[in-house]
Amino acid sequence: MDIKENYTAIKNQLPSGVQLVAVSKMHPAEAIHKVYDLGQKVFGENKVQELMEKYPLLPKDIQWHLIGHLQTNKVKYIAPFIDTIQSVDSEKLLAEISKEAGKNSRTIKVLLQVKIAAEETKFGLEIAEAKTLFQEYIDGKFPNVEITGLMGMATFTEDIEQVKREFLILKGLFDELNQLKALVTLSMGMSDDFPAAIECGANSVRVGSAIFGRRDYSK
Ligand SMILES: *Cc1c(COP(=O)(O)O)cnc(C)c1O
Repeated sequence: MDIKENYTAIKNQLPSGVQLVAVSKMHPAEAIHKVYDLGQKVFGENKVQELMEKYPLLPKDIQWHLIGHLQTNKVKYIAPFIDTIQSVDSEKLLAEISKEAGKNSRTIKVLLQVKIAAEETKFGLEIAEAKTLFQEYIDGKFPNVEITGLMGMATFTEDIEQVKREFLILKGLFDELNQLKALVTLSMGMSDDFPAAIECGANSVRVGSAIFGRRDYSK
């Protein structure tokens, strides 16, 4: 399968209304351009340095999403152009994004990344922390960000029932916060579990290897 066939196959599996974030990490700008030429405008990268290398090489109407852990001292590099930061996992980071967005006279869209996996994961807010942060946002503490939704990753397991239980936890939190202030995006699901995520209410999926092929970690 080549990139075009992969991309078309994924697009055909997505119900209308489900956004595709094409995860291009570890793939070169040329591969991204191929997918862009098929009509894809939203791409996800997980590392600031890699994004900064690719950004100047690619069309300016790409909406870049940062999906990996972000250190506060790196926010300033991406603040001028990033469309959405999906991986907000602390109050300190959210405050920094708001500050840097202000310096650039813009509002940056963010998702709160919430821990839903049973397995030990390094990054993500506990559910209670996410609720507190969202309330502070409603109270006006982060004026230059717009929290548009939630992001989560399920446990890496073959047990699809467990994966769905975890996705439904995030869907529950999404519905609860949405009562307080309207949210747009529920980002769940990757190459191996996006159909389950959509069943559980995801309206945005982050798909990498099913489009671009396997990532070569040996390089
Ligand atoms: C790499 C990555 C993805 C995409 O994973 P695939 O299995 O290649 O589809 C999605 N979300 C996050 C946060 C990632 O780091």
